[in-house]
Amino acid sequence: MRKNYLLTPGPTPLPPKVSEAMSRPIIHHRTPQFQAILKEATEGLKYVFQTKNDVFILASSGTGAMEASVINLLSPGDTALSVQGGKFGERWAELCKPYGINAEIIDVEWGKAVSPLEIEKRLKANPKIKVVFTTLCETSTGVVNDIKAIGEVVNKTEAVLVVDAISGLGAIDLKTDEWFCDVVVSGSQKGLMLPPGLGFISVSPKAFKLIEASKSPRYYFDLRKAKKAIDKTDTPFTPAITLIIALNEALAMIKEDGLEKVFARHKKMADATRVAVQALGLGLFAPTAASDVVTAAKVPQGLDGEKLVKTMRDTYGVTIAGGQGEMKGKLIRIAHMGFIEEFDIIAGISCLEKVLAQMGHKFEMGKGVRAAEEEFLK
Ligand SMILES: *Cc1c(COP(=O)(O)O)cnc(C)c1O
Repeated sequence: MRKNYLLTPGPTPLPPKVSEAMSRPIIHHRTPQFQAILKEATEGLKYVFQTKNDVFILASSGTGAMEASVINLLSPGDTALSVQGGKFGERWAELCKPYGINAEIIDVEWGKAVSPLEIEKRLKANPKIKVVFTTLCETSTGVVNDIKAIGEVVNKTEAVLVVDAISGLGAIDLKTDEWFCDVVVSGSQKGLMLPPGLGFISVSPKAFKLIEASKSPRYYFDLRKAKKAIDKTDTPFTPAITLIIALNEALAMIKEDGLEKVFARHKKMADATRVAVQALGLGLFAPTAASDVVTAAKVPQGLDGEKLVKTMRDTYGVTIAGGQGEMKGKLIRIAHMGFIEEFDIIAGISCLEKVLAQMGHKFEMGKGVRAAEEEFLK
């Protein structure tokens, strides 16, 4: 027998209501019944995105929505500015390359947030930059970027701001319209408490002008087709019907609490996780820009980080994530995103303590759990 705990930054645990919705009989999508479901989903997404813009639902993982934004906004030979500071930020430039789009790069040190002033400087230096690609929460480092300040900078120019909010949407604040985010992309398996398989993309009128003008090859992810369809409460291709039905359950849960309360819960989980790992002697990887989405902590000197993660998962059923790219083996990442409550965090920290002790790390047993509990009592 084994009870599993999922504390990874995607996928995240499924609420029972979401699982139940996916076991219902399938229905046809070209029906008034599905149209009502699609309308509810689109409106619920607008609430979570905090936007009046169109939000399109794609049958893909989050990266599909990233690719959709690259090919719909830019033509071969165009120039974009891409903020890098982790594995996911790097994906923007990787996506530009096969389509012949030039990506200028702002290389941010891993564990740090990008300076909005640097973006301003680069935009001034090269007025040909059409699109600025950024990340709300850089999941590989746990960093949250100041999208509000970046939005103010980009809004003063002709450039369009694109935000990868795949991890972060529905967990931390992102005011799409108020912060001038022209395009926001997300995915289903993180803050939105669904299995993987849906990509989301919101598009401002300013961004739509680029979509009309783009000469990049596109078919499945052609947002002109998606726009035509959504105006008739329809989708251009067979939608992921079951996942969209489940999405409405997740959106109803978020709406019932309200965004403010949802964000406050994420902050509480994050605060407790941060004090707990520090009480065990593990330093935060991003102390100045730590997100309330996922906590990245440094593996103590001399310990094998990969073994730590593997033992927690394979011996005790508690799955957290390790470091990625250049931080492989050097970080642990504990996600507190989506359907996560106090006692999930306590279980995760307790298991971390047990395995750290077995691996010979010197600390006072129970200190992490105690720090988390004290934080929760506040
Ligand atoms: C998970 C994640 C992605 C990748 O999404 P997929 O659904 O795996 O395609 C991209 N960006 C960020 C910030 C992520 O957290």
